[in-house]
Amino acid sequence: MQEVLYHYGADLIFNGELDLSVKMNQNNSDQIKYMRAALAQARLAYKKGEVPIGCVIVHDGEIIGRGYNRRNTDKCTLAHAEITAIRRASKALDDWRLEDCTMYVTLEPCQMCAGAIVQARIPRVYAGAASPKAGCAGSILDVLNNNEFNHQVEYEQGLMESECSALLKKFFTELRVKNKEEKKQNRMNLIFDIDGTLWDTTEIVSEAWNDATYDIGIGDKLGRFVTADMLKKEFGKPMDVIVDDLYPNETPDIKEKLQTQIKIREQERVGGCTMDLAYPEVRKTLRTLACRGDCAIYIVSNCQDGYIPLVMGKIGIKDIVADYECFGVTGLSKSDNIKLLCERNGIEPADAIYIGDTAGDYESAVAAGTDFIYARYGFGDDVPVPGYKGRSIAAFRELLDI
Ligand SMILES: [Zn+2]
Repeated sequence: MQEVLYHYGADLIFNGELDLSVKMNQNNSDQIKYMRAALAQARLAYKKGEVPIGCVIVHDGEIIGRGYNRRNTDKCTLAHAEITAIRRASKALDDWRLEDCTMYVTLEPCQMCAGAIVQARIPRVYAGAASPKAGCAGSILDVLNNNEFNHQVEYEQGLMESECSALLKKFFTELRVKNKEEKKQNRMNLIFDIDGTLWDTTEIVSEAWNDATYDIGIGDKLGRFVTADMLKKEFGKPMDVIVDDLYPNETPDIKEKLQTQIKIREQERVGGCTMDLAYPEVRKTLRTLACRGDCAIYIVSNCQDGYIPLVMGKIGIKDIVADYECFGVTGLSKSDNIKLLCERNGIEPADAIYIGDTAGDYESAVAAGTDFIYARYGFGDDVPVPGYKGRSIAAFRELLDI
């Protein structure tokens, strides 16, 4: 048989070079034509969301059987492209023997189809791409060419390989993206406030504030101590606002110095504290939620830089918090930080829930477009705003039931 090297556009070009190993005989234009028909079948599978594999069987220059993978559509193991094509070809010839036929299939046949090809006595098969994990025409087994069987098949692989494998690759890439999206959509995104929601540090933090005022020499000027109750009313606000509220008569310079010193003293006091500051069952509940696999945990707070890692370390949840953000890092409002965190993690705010304990938390959630769960045990009143009809929890573990 005279061998001629043909150019089929992209089919023979790999990495920009002509693949000289694929030499086609003079019938190759027919082979291309029939493999294109098999690819057209594969595209029908693709349109149905099935792994795109297509097959045609040719007899006397005529396609007498077509098939494409319909395994999921038909809920049937037998619905492979080759089996369907064999069934149709047998019907067309009114014979189970397909002795003068040639099969064109876009992927190396599996063990079932390779077995059926042998059983049907098909003499020639042209395949497109290899199937390294399931192929039984050489990849795992060679069912088509086993001398122990009564029939052997002439098999050639690599015909329009790049087009056949490109379609499969496209399918699996899209499937991975789709699965990832679905997983994301079904996931519960919980964004937590810290103070009054995860833990209560007002006692120690008030001590840190008092330390700081003495450090910069205004402690005795105030004539009173900052108490936990005073701080509870302020928590949820950015630190500069709290400083303005509690020290309205100090100069901007002093207020700034005070903020810097408070940060240092807070880290010391909270970091050095050996008590469990978290509300009951916070760690256990968060770990249970994280282990469920349908739940992602985030933290957004108005706190200063460094406070969230400290909190996570203290509570023991560093490994389960997916991301966090705070005022001290971005200088943004809580609602803008919630939006920023959502954007960074590919979450629609509407698919997230902010869990907080103050009216400010509720308003931030509304402004960011997230859902809200009110922590009634925290620093706020019984409802975040009058007439609040949303969800609330009286204890942290109730989150397991949402
Ligand atoms: Zn198969």
